[in-house]
Amino acid sequence: MQKDLGFRNKLIQQIKEHEEKSSELDPSPATREQIARQVFYYAEDFLNTLEDSEIYNPNDGKGLYDFPITNDGEDLSKVLKVLKDEVDTSGLNPASGGYIGYIPGGGIYYSALGDYLADITNRYSGIYFLGPGAVKMENVLLKWIIDLVGFPKTSAGSLTSGGTAATLTALIAAREAFKLKSCDFAKTVIYLTQQTHHCLTKTLKIIGMSEAIIRNVPTDQHFRMNPLALQGMIEEDLQSGLRPWLIAASAGTTDFGSVDPLTTLSILAKNYKLWFHVDAAYGGFFLLTKVGKRTMAGISSADSIILDPHKSLFIPYGLGVVLIRNKRNLIQAYSYDEASYLKDTERDGEISPHHSSLELTRHFRAPRLWLPLKLIGVKPFSAALEEKLLLAKYFYESIKEIKNMELACEPQLSIVVFRYVPKHGDANEFNLNLLKGLRASRRVFLSSTILNKKIYLRFACLHFRTHLKLVDHVLMLLRENIQQLKADQIFSKI
Ligand SMILES: *Cc1c(COP(=O)(O)O)cnc(C)c1O
Repeated sequence: MQKDLGFRNKLIQQIKEHEEKSSELDPSPATREQIARQVFYYAEDFLNTLEDSEIYNPNDGKGLYDFPITNDGEDLSKVLKVLKDEVDTSGLNPASGGYIGYIPGGGIYYSALGDYLADITNRYSGIYFLGPGAVKMENVLLKWIIDLVGFPKTSAGSLTSGGTAATLTALIAAREAFKLKSCDFAKTVIYLTQQTHHCLTKTLKIIGMSEAIIRNVPTDQHFRMNPLALQGMIEEDLQSGLRPWLIAASAGTTDFGSVDPLTTLSILAKNYKLWFHVDAAYGGFFLLTKVGKRTMAGISSADSIILDPHKSLFIPYGLGVVLIRNKRNLIQAYSYDEASYLKDTERDGEISPHHSSLELTRHFRAPRLWLPLKLIGVKPFSAALEEKLLLAKYFYESIKEIKNMELACEPQLSIVVFRYVPKHGDANEFNLNLLKGLRASRRVFLSSTILNKKIYLRFACLHFRTHLKLVDHVLMLLRENIQQLKADQIFSKI
């Protein structure tokens, strides 16, 4: 008895000791206020100095290795200093409006607050029964996007971590819808173009379909898929006993922002009973603009669509969307138990993400999109996208006025691809130097691409902080750098 009591007291004492130490995981209101304030001011300082901050910093952040994870914590000021010195001033600064290379990202402030709340409340968004409100919020957002692309009521989708994860989700649904088995893969044909984003072939490899036949359909002068050529290829493949499966169209290619002729392609897909997938990762939300609506009209006939709110809706990195026209195709691919899913829907008409995606427990992603949309409405998003289209047009027209500039094609959305053709010397070298010169300004970051072995520069206008003033600055930098490079050429000849 006595011994038992001693044992119990010792146990309690041990528990208390650990309880005291572990309580640091749950800071007091006073601590919370103090650290949140410090973090808030860090963020304010970051935003308030953005305009003067460098667009690219060669600092490789290796100081992080001198700041290893240890058993004891550090002072927040020290931690924030390392964050600033080793991470937030290392490499590209995607928060800057000077980011006009590759496909720019976003990072609107309201989303950060949505993420903050999502992390504090940590709602379980995988299963409807556990988080009916969380799942409904996600479905409300999906419904908004379903309406935007013009999909029918029978559609469903999922919020993913990005465009590649969304593509993976879509292609698995397409594979299951066609009941393709491994013995079919070597005869299965996918149609895409040289402009199709590489995440498509990467996904095919990941889902075990790298044996499948990939047909590169020729493109027109605007780098859009040629439907006649596609039809010829499908006919030929059918005649040779192959199994045409999927057309992968792009609504805004990464390099040129080209939109494939979606309506015509959808008719071909329907006639030949192919799955029609549309990659709208970059271009999709231009549906909020007049030009976008017109250019992408055929998107409503797709079987699957992917979009990236972390691109054309300016949300911080980590948010993609996949939509599947017939929700059965999504459920069949992802529900481990279709019968129990059907019971769930009978109850409340809501699909749980774990029945429609590869995840179970997951980040509660909805608030980062829901909060901004609810707080400021859709209008500012449409306006920003209209602005990007007009800025691209402005840039295109201005660049045409520079002598010896060559434009790859007229921009369909917000990407302008161009190169300078010097009278003397190697054009590729000249354009690489031009790119270097622009980046050396430390305010703007453009990228390049290769077309028929020629190097072109890309002006990709998608950042919500890119405005007219910056575009004028880029034009000025271009003129200055061209003059300088020409002068250098003359000098090197002397
Ligand atoms: C960015 C992009 C992707 C890939 O999306 P992630 O979100 O980077 O995974 C796919 N397709 C196109 C057209 C893109 O621009």
